[in-house]
This record gives sequence, C-alpha cells and structure tokens, in this order.
Amino acid sequence: MDIQVGDVLELKKEHPCGSRRWSVLRVGMDFRLRCQGCGHELMLPRSKAEKSVKKVIRSGEGQQT
Ligand SMILES: [Zn+2]
Repeated sequence: MDIQVGDVLELKKEHPCGSRRWSVLRVGMDFRLRCQGCGHELMLPRSKAEKSVKKVIRSGEGQQT
C-alpha cells in the first residue's frame, strides 16, 4: 500500500470522537497520524496501519498510483 505524508487515511474503525479520517504526519516503520476529528496524534506500526486502512484519500494533483 502506498501511503505518503500529507495523505488522509480513512480507517475501518471509528475513533471515539466519531471521525474515521487521519492525516499522515510521518511515514516510515511507524506512521504518525493525527485524527481529523479531535486532533489526537498517535504512532501506528506500518503493518497494523495498512490493515486498518479502508481507503487512502489524496488531495494532491489527481495522481492515483
Ligand atoms: Zn478523534
């Protein structure tokens, strides 16, 4: 799965604040994500993150891959 800094991840599971969308702040062995609903930040191992992502939303210039 191709995830870059600046992407927005829509997760399968809802955060307690009701949002499913997380901004990607950093990628690497761990992803650093910020909840778009409440601003909570967390680190998530790449393998776990990839499993819990439903969809990657890229606001960039229409590149799909
Ligand atoms: Zn939240």
